[in-house]
Amino acid sequence: MNTGTEHTTKRQRTRQMRIGNIPVGGGAPIVIQSMTSTYTYEIDNTVAQIRKLAAAGCDVVRVAVPDAKDTLALPEILDQSPVPIVADVHFHYERALEAIEAGVHKIRLNPGNIQDRQKVDRVIAACRERGIPIRVGVNEGSVVERIDKEVRSAQKADLAQGSTQGHSSRLVALMVRVLEEYLRIFEDNNFHDVVLAAKSIDATIVIDAYRAISDRFDYPLHLGLTHAGPPETGRIRSIAALGTLLAEGIGDTLRISYASDPIYEVEDAKELLYSLGLRARTEPELIACPTCGRIEIDLVDLVGKVRRKLTEINCPVKVAVMGCVVNGPGECEGADVAIFAGKGKGIIYVQGEQKQTVPEDRMLEALLDECRSLASRVEAGKATLSNQTVDIVPPDPLPRSDGSLPLRVVNDS
Ligand code: SF4
Repeated sequence: MNTGTEHTTKRQRTRQMRIGNIPVGGGAPIVIQSMTSTYTYEIDNTVAQIRKLAAAGCDVVRVAVPDAKDTLALPEILDQSPVPIVADVHFHYERALEAIEAGVHKIRLNPGNIQDRQKVDRVIAACRERGIPIRVGVNEGSVVERIDKEVRSAQKADLAQGSTQGHSSRLVALMVRVLEEYLRIFEDNNFHDVVLAAKSIDATIVIDAYRAISDRFDYPLHLGLTHAGPPETGRIRSIAALGTLLAEGIGDTLRISYASDPIYEVEDAKELLYSLGLRARTEPELIACPTCGRIEIDLVDLVGKVRRKLTEINCPVKVAVMGCVVNGPGECEGADVAIFAGKGKGIIYVQGEQKQTVPEDRMLEALLDECRSLASRVEAGKATLSNQTVDIVPPDPLPRSDGSLPLRVVNDS
């Protein structure tokens, strides 16, 4: 079910191409990608992870093909995959040719690590024949390695002047220049189904690099950081960089990469696109108060349970879990289903209408019942979700534990 709304961020116009049945660039919806962490030759494990990622909302999955046994596994994997597959190739052009022959939907290739130009030309010719795109990228590490001396001497000069700004801009300029060199190979072959990437571990370099290549080229851009770390730290770095770029209209596909189960990459990428209005929400949205000294129930526990249970509802219903009636109603306008908790009980609203007051031990189930019921009515066409503000009338204050009534103070959280 998809009844959420999309915001109209003005997107940078890029060429359009396809990864299998998925359009990329040219104003098409932003594509979420992830990568399997299995050994590709272990077909069952790889297919299971691809399916899990696809079910979580991943549009395209990349698999590493370091050895011939990996490319040999591709036909079976492709047969069973619900989403297009990208083959990640490094160093061995033969793996690219084998993957293309197997029927993958895109190749990720770094011409910088295939020395022989004729070998790159052969891969390009094979991709053209099959009509599949190639992702070409630079990352800070490889650029620095390649032009080590140049970067180091520039860095020394910058540091001598007490500046790190110059180093960043030189690095970005180098990344763009290397990308230009790579692209010349593709353009000499009159091949334009190219998606570009420019990655770094540093969020500010990623932002500057993508801004620069977006100004310079009209190829679709695949956004990402490299080696972002585990979700706990990589999340902030990734969202800072990718969120900034996406809000500026830059980016056609993205991968948030973590040193963890790739399912988190997909969940966070989806939430990022939802938050920026770049993808229509297809699942429940949960808002909750941060709690404060007025709290009289274990709200954090309740929110955790609601969040887990909401994953079972296939409808973008907006749910609010608020710790009190003091200013909760003012803070969750627009919620389809809301609960305002107080000492020992909670009041549940559905689209602005007060529905029931339940004791604390029934809050979770009663709230979920209302969510399920609304979702069923939406599914049956008997109700619509509130895309505009729902006017929630504040309920009568619930007595505090000492019997006094809380004040209604608005917007003081
Ligand atoms: S005042 Fe706001 S933050 Fe504090 S418990 Fe009430 S709704 Fe939550």
